Amino acid sequence: MADAKRTLLHLKTNNRMPHGLLFHGPSLPDHKEVFSYLVKLEGCEHQQNEVPCDTCTPCKKIDENRHADVLWVSPLKNEIVVSQVAELLKWIHISPHELQRKFVWIRTGHLLNISAANALLKTLEEPPPYAVIVISVDRPDQVLLTIRSRLMLVRIPTNNSETNNDEFPEWISDLKETLHCYPGKYQDQSHLIDMISENREQFVWFLKTAQECILELWKTAFKNGQLSPAKQAKFQQLFQMTLNIENRAYKKYGNTSLHLHHFFMTWMGLST
Ligand SMILES: [Zn+2]
Repeated sequence: MADAKRTLLHLKTNNRMPHGLLFHGPSLPDHKEVFSYLVKLEGCEHQQNEVPCDTCTPCKKIDENRHADVLWVSPLKNEIVVSQVAELLKWIHISPHELQRKFVWIRTGHLLNISAANALLKTLEEPPPYAVIVISVDRPDQVLLTIRSRLMLVRIPTNNSETNNDEFPEWISDLKETLHCYPGKYQDQSHLIDMISENREQFVWFLKTAQECILELWKTAFKNGQLSPAKQAKFQQLFQMTLNIENRAYKKYGNTSLHLHHFFMTWMGLST
């Protein structure tokens, strides 16, 4: 969870907070904690080193879900219906009262029904500048692809799983997801690239994971007889790129983001 919080802090301090976030992970209480943290970064009156105090009036209001600029959306019976999304849209289009932003938390994204999801999609496409909409699910594939492609994925591990994978950077799951599942769909590489470029350790994780993913996909394509000469060349090129990035990085650390951008662009070309 600490990594999820760090990701959000990083986005906020770099003025890159997306309008839509998809929290995914098995434990809703952990989602709540990260969501509250996100709002408190904006609202807390006594933060110290980006740690909210949890005791000031805004912090308490946020924890108790009675802050004027925060809206929680929960299902009616067993689904979130279009009238609830209509309410949400009305609410989000009124400027914030106390904070610089307004925050929506859709706590069970998998219960959005089709018409509700479609109504929401329009706002995700053209959100008011101050809006931050968070959707929580267990797994990213529980929301429509059209919705998902508008959101930045943030994995919320349980406290337990985090202790077990203490040294495993959080964004690796985003990277794996990018490399495995959605070539051509991934839209927020700048965030990934920031995370990867943060320090050498993160960078080494990137290289290791990217190379593993490429080799795995390469093998799978070969086994399934889907390895055209063009695809074979692309895999080779991608792998070589990771090696080049590695070499450059070891010679002179810095300016790696350009190469990483290039890597992701080439990756996206793989599906075409
Ligand atoms: Zn506070």
